[in-house]
Amino acid sequence: MPESTMTGGAAADDQELDLAWLRQKYLDERQKRLNARGIGQYIEVKGDFSRFIDDPYVDGPLVRDALTETVEAIVIGGGFGGLLAAAELHKIGITDIRIVEKAGDFGGTWYWNRYPGAQCDIESYIYMPLLEETGYVPTEKYAHAAELFAHARRIGEHFDLYRRALFQTQITELRWDDSDNRWVARTDHGDVIRARWVLSASGPLNRPKLPGIPGIESFKGHTFHTSRWDYAYTGGNSRGGLTGLADKRVAIIGTGATAIQCAPYVAKDAKHLYVVQRTPSTVDIRGNRPTDHEWARSLAPGWQRQRMDNFNLIVSGACVETDLVQDGWTDLFSDLTLAYLAGDRATLAPEEMARLTELADFRKGNRIRARLDQVVQDPATAEGLKPWYGMMCKRPTFNDDYLKAFNRPNVTLVDTQGRGLDAITETGIVFDGVEYPVDCIIFATGFETGTGYTRRAAMEVHGRAGETMSQHFAAGLRTFHGFLTDNFPNFFMLGLSQNGFKPNVTDMLAEQSEHVVGLIAAARAEGATVIEALPEAVDAWVATIREKSELSRKFLATCTPGYFTGEGDIDKGVFVETYGDGSPAFSALLQAWRDAGDHAGLEVR
Ligand code: NDP
Repeated sequence: MPESTMTGGAAADDQELDLAWLRQKYLDERQKRLNARGIGQYIEVKGDFSRFIDDPYVDGPLVRDALTETVEAIVIGGGFGGLLAAAELHKIGITDIRIVEKAGDFGGTWYWNRYPGAQCDIESYIYMPLLEETGYVPTEKYAHAAELFAHARRIGEHFDLYRRALFQTQITELRWDDSDNRWVARTDHGDVIRARWVLSASGPLNRPKLPGIPGIESFKGHTFHTSRWDYAYTGGNSRGGLTGLADKRVAIIGTGATAIQCAPYVAKDAKHLYVVQRTPSTVDIRGNRPTDHEWARSLAPGWQRQRMDNFNLIVSGACVETDLVQDGWTDLFSDLTLAYLAGDRATLAPEEMARLTELADFRKGNRIRARLDQVVQDPATAEGLKPWYGMMCKRPTFNDDYLKAFNRPNVTLVDTQGRGLDAITETGIVFDGVEYPVDCIIFATGFETGTGYTRRAAMEVHGRAGETMSQHFAAGLRTFHGFLTDNFPNFFMLGLSQNGFKPNVTDMLAEQSEHVVGLIAAARAEGATVIEALPEAVDAWVATIREKSELSRKFLATCTPGYFTGEGDIDKGVFVETYGDGSPAFSALLQAWRDAGDHAGLEVR
């Protein structure tokens, strides 16, 4: 490696970066990680593997009588998306709703993800929704899982949503009834619920996935997925104290955002920890701190929206005068865009912009790699932990304990050089001819993406004319603004779709809920009972989405595989269909569309 690329640092100027070497290195690393099986390399959690998604947080299966009822709206999902949708409905006076949630409580991501160290990566003051409405002040800049879960419950209480919730229940089928313009939902408890409107917020990362490692089914030790942490086995809680691991050899498979957070806790308490790495994450500084209550008291009404908007503009590459959040995300995006492009963006040729962005990206990568050399004592381990890809090829992570954990004598990095493990045996894990005996394997292998909408939502939706949603989306998602599709009236999709993506997902969900519920309010004011996207409007929107995704497709094609890139099949990438001009432009587009007031692209009847 040329000396210059190893040093990096903010002071590095263009000459210090060996661009040709870096470009080749990134390509080589990508090549190592490519897997011809794409998303097919993962095992679906069903059949023998379905125990991996059993709910460890409830006493057992729920036994109750089936319901037959008619409500105004069904909200699918009780995570922040469903809660925000329900809160918006509440605000316009629609309280006759049913929230259907497969978990035992509200919380979504934060109901399931209780692993040690689980914490929001986006600042609490902007990530935790409705802080001003509920009067809550987070205890720290990055709140931990229990506090996030408690906040979801707080929102449920605040808007009186518990009464309206069916927990431990899944909608298995939705069928449009043309005779009275309502949906008919059937659940796994035999409920039959009729509703005018359906708002579906089932979450983009709700189905855990397992790696298709040969022999995975033969392991005789203990196993679980991070989103169903087995505290009965490990002891402790989400703040640590995993005393049950004191005499256990543990392997954590995966080094994504989840593993980065839980590995230090396992390292602290396990007899031995093997961290099985396929591709290293970028690990930047966390810098958590308790909330300054004097500061919190000084905040003027409207502060949360202002702070969310400020953050969103920065992470969308806009120039703003003040960075209110000042964290790893705003730092990263400032590095990638503002520092180099401020002032003259409008006059820059696209090639020059691409060149400057690439330079900024390499510089940031060098700083991330330099941090590794400073923190990790063993040079070979430090080298193995170095990520070699563009900063936005994978989810950036922020943690102050993960890298240090590798300085412990009881922690071993099993660097699989992009390949993944060769095998799992009855008693351990195997890589490169070496078997590492372990008592427990923890799968930090993430969540299903790139598969069909209805498969991930675990329900079939039968629209008008008898077509199912699986058939309707067989050739890919097709929506109007990401929310509605033709032939499926009054069915609104919330979350990651053909719309503007915000890294602060709860902010995105809040904006989407406002828009969708605004549509419902407008239809009701007109005495209409049906909102349906026109096929030509859907076609046009899909064409817009495709056209605007060119740049991001080009970038993703250079990236190391992962769920951002659909494991190398870009069409299955999780963000590839989001609005390519970014969320501020998408918000402006929606605002202009609403201001026009003519429901263009929709039939409201
Ligand atoms: P990810 O999909 O990001 O990571 C899965 C990990 O498993 C990767 O390191 C992957 O390697 C590895 N893996 C998969 N198959 C194999 C194999 N055969 N052998 C070895 N390793 C394998 O899942 P996470 O749960 O970490 O994170 C998912 C998302 O959830 C994040 O991207 C983020 O959006 C969100 N999240 C947010 C948090 C927050 O805000 N606080 C915290 C945690 C998660 P490879 O990289 O090579 O594919």
